[in-house]
Amino acid sequence: MHELSVTQGILNLALDAAHGAGRIVAIDLMVGELTSFVDDSIQFYFDILGKGTAAEGALLRIRREPASAVCGQCGHAFRVGAPLPPGCPACGSSHLRITGGSALRVESIEIEDGDSGR
Ligand SMILES: [Zn+2]
Repeated sequence: MHELSVTQGILNLALDAAHGAGRIVAIDLMVGELTSFVDDSIQFYFDILGKGTAAEGALLRIRREPASAVCGQCGHAFRVGAPLPPGCPACGSSHLRITGGSALRVESIEIEDGDSGR
């Protein structure tokens, strides 16, 4: 459900970056495996929110970032998935720190130069 506010954030960021320089044609997103964001929902909201803006019709290219964690006890780093493991596979400690896969970020924004000489 919170795809809506997240998508609004992505749109704002993209429009900011475009600065009226041209039309936004594509946005590369990195979505962590541990987030519950659904790719289709993000694109769906984006299409609605982007209507009438420079980002109208932009394509969202979404990549999944693998999730990883590091043990606060022994320093062992490992891949994780949801649900998270209860403890470190090396020492059993529950002091785990998630080091990747829990965020969504904009990697790059593709802007088409609106200045085509017409
Ligand atoms: Zn450990």
